[in-house]
Amino acid sequence: MTAQAHVFDGIPGPLLEALRSLAKTAQLTVALDFDGVLAPLVDRPNDARSDPKSLQAISDLVLLSGTTVALVSGRSLESLRAVSGSPDGVLLIGSHGAEYDLGDGRAGVALTAEEKRALTELERAITGVASRHPEARVEGKPAGFALHTRGLTPDAAQAAQRDASRTIGATLPGVTHRAGKDVLEFSVVAATKADAMHRLRLHTTATAMLYAGDDVTDEDAFAALEPGDLSVKVGAGATVALHRLHGTAEVAQMLRVLASDRRNHLLGA
Ligand SMILES: [Mg+2]
Repeated sequence: MTAQAHVFDGIPGPLLEALRSLAKTAQLTVALDFDGVLAPLVDRPNDARSDPKSLQAISDLVLLSGTTVALVSGRSLESLRAVSGSPDGVLLIGSHGAEYDLGDGRAGVALTAEEKRALTELERAITGVASRHPEARVEGKPAGFALHTRGLTPDAAQAAQRDASRTIGATLPGVTHRAGKDVLEFSVVAATKADAMHRLRLHTTATAMLYAGDDVTDEDAFAALEPGDLSVKVGAGATVALHRLHGTAEVAQMLRVLASDRRNHLLGA
């Protein structure tokens, strides 16, 4: 095995070459997962922070013409904003593609017409449930509703949750149910990172994209890439990505190389 000889600061030779080629595209979109890619994985999600070297490279990239950087995360937009520390100009996509902040002042959930109809139906259903269980509390979410049962007796909580599950399951079979501690959440969105990549490509009119991710849900984003794009799996695990990096330090190095190649290309160097 001679791979070591072809690795530059943790970046395999074929990826270096692909980065050099990508840097020459007319309209470049660099899309990055957050946890495990920009930020090392941590036990408490609120403690996650981007590698400062990656942040520096991202800051360099967003200042270049014809270049867009986007974070594409399973986190809510609110959480992503709070922990990523991303510089101005970086586009944010949260909830696996259900929430968007594309810098056009229209931050929020991008629901299809069908999802909007489902959300209205869901509101009607959950309001009905709440009227039968007045101690339960309904919270509106970007793409759904949460039924909180904290403080209720166990019997009352169970009755309210069962009523909600049955009512919504019967009338809105496409709605996703997620149970938490003293809460039952319902969402009308079944977005994936593939949806996020399609939307991002249209929004940025990208002529080529890079996507780097470390998790199973990132495979949807890799699969949405096209010839000429660049896919980078971070860490171990099966993947359809064409390139792989060891961890967040190598991602920082890759972004530094890309920023440098892109700047040199734009300067005609
Ligand atoms: Mg991740």
